[in-house]
Amino acid sequence: MDDLKSQSHGHIVMLPFMAHGHLIPFLALAHRIRRQTPFAVTLAATTLNLRYLRSTTSPDDDDSGIRLHELPFRSSDHGLPPDTENTENLPLSQIGTLFHASISLAAPVERLISNITAEEGRPPLCVISDVFFGWSVDVARKLGTKSIAFTTGGAYGTLAYLSVWLHLPHRSTDAEEFSVPGFPERCRFHRSQLHRFIREADTTDQWSKFFQVQLKLFLASDGWLCNSVEEIEPLGFDLLRKYLKLPVWAIGPLVPPHMLQKSSPISPNSRSKSLQKHTGKVFGVSPEKCLDFLGSHSPNSVSYISFGSQNTISPSQMMQLAIGLESSGKPFLWVIRPPLGFDIKGEFQPEWLPPGFEDRVTRSKQGLLVRNWAPQLDILSHSSTGAFLSHCGWNSTMESLSQGMPIMGWPMTGEQAYNAKMMVEEMGVCVELTRGVESQIEAEEVKRVIETVMEEEGKGGEMRKRATAVMEQMRQAVKEGSDDDKGSSLKAMDEFVRTILGDSTNGTFSFLQVNHRS
Ligand code: UDP
Repeated sequence: MDDLKSQSHGHIVMLPFMAHGHLIPFLALAHRIRRQTPFAVTLAATTLNLRYLRSTTSPDDDDSGIRLHELPFRSSDHGLPPDTENTENLPLSQIGTLFHASISLAAPVERLISNITAEEGRPPLCVISDVFFGWSVDVARKLGTKSIAFTTGGAYGTLAYLSVWLHLPHRSTDAEEFSVPGFPERCRFHRSQLHRFIREADTTDQWSKFFQVQLKLFLASDGWLCNSVEEIEPLGFDLLRKYLKLPVWAIGPLVPPHMLQKSSPISPNSRSKSLQKHTGKVFGVSPEKCLDFLGSHSPNSVSYISFGSQNTISPSQMMQLAIGLESSGKPFLWVIRPPLGFDIKGEFQPEWLPPGFEDRVTRSKQGLLVRNWAPQLDILSHSSTGAFLSHCGWNSTMESLSQGMPIMGWPMTGEQAYNAKMMVEEMGVCVELTRGVESQIEAEEVKRVIETVMEEEGKGGEMRKRATAVMEQMRQAVKEGSDDDKGSSLKAMDEFVRTILGDSTNGTFSFLQVNHRS
């Protein structure tokens, strides 16, 4: 049946970058395409990344019709330790090496597309690649198919990331603040929002040599898909379209469907099972224990603290954060990893925290420390969780906003500082605590920010109201319905389909009206 469908309707090849924060939204997009269109989907990645993706899927997903294709990659050929296929737990210098090594995937991707073309008698409809795989634009063109970028970030953050790399605007001034091409003057950026390696980039370093080349290639693609929602980032989408001069489709949020339901009908236990599949990770504390802890606190009272899948903070920051959390007297659930300078996968040492800290907060039920990995979706969707101290990675941002949860920002790298800036200045759902791993933070400031965000009225109350409005917009965007009635993200997916089918009319394809998997 699937073969017949792919022969009659077409095939899409998807190429995620080698990082968990990219693999998960790619898989979610693959599912969305399978649900909303009749196309065959092949998702291609290296062996260990495919193993990770398989560990995140449930037996129900076997029926999804997504084909997983293995791309050969030997990390030791590129000066990386054996079995290094993902940014997880890699030091920064080796992440740079992995970026460059990823270009070697061009040859096996070319073979994959040629084989599909030979088997099906025509090339795939398009290749959807991570924005870090600019080389795929040339491969697609050479093999007669369309190339589509998929940015796993939001529109505003993607534009800032792209423009800062392509223009290095901070290098033309000594000032702390500078303007970025593509943004109006009022949106000036600050040097502290740039990661050290972008601040120091001068076009000859390994980072510039990768990003300037790979990102630029995507300016000649056929369009961009974006894991965001038109209504929550109107400025970002307007600016990104003007800058790219290409179609940009807002098809997000790519979070699990139960996160977008009004009130989840699923019991805590079944929710945590679905989450375990979603992350494919071992939790530091069982999901049940996290839910019990949250259940012992009142609505909107607990701060959730997590810096994403691979970050940690400096030893002095960790100490001040702990003191500030305890002195706030407010409950918290903290996903904690060894601080910078220590083996992030190693054993957690009590001396990294104030003496007796964990015992005290555990006994008083003020805090729960979860080593390394927590069931984030369960935590964010629990009614006791009231705010998220986050590194503002885009997946965490979407997950938090899908629950109407205000954010205390602590951006670290990538486009995270731009996400935080957008959420502070445009959305009004975030207050920034600090930036990066080099900053000095004071416990007093931690306490002050938590108190502000947790206020029922005042600034905290206003942020919560705005976050709730964003949540509603996200839910509307994926609302099923007839052509006129359906949400903007579903309409955007239809428009994307028309583009890859080469249809310039506004007519609707009969298969767009049915959810072919329902
Ligand atoms: N995550 C999780 N538990 C953790 C830490 C992270 O489930 O303890 C998940 C989180 O829900 C999100 C992803 O990991 O889906 C992190 O992605 P994000 O884009 O926020 O940050 P990145 O890891 O790419 O920096």
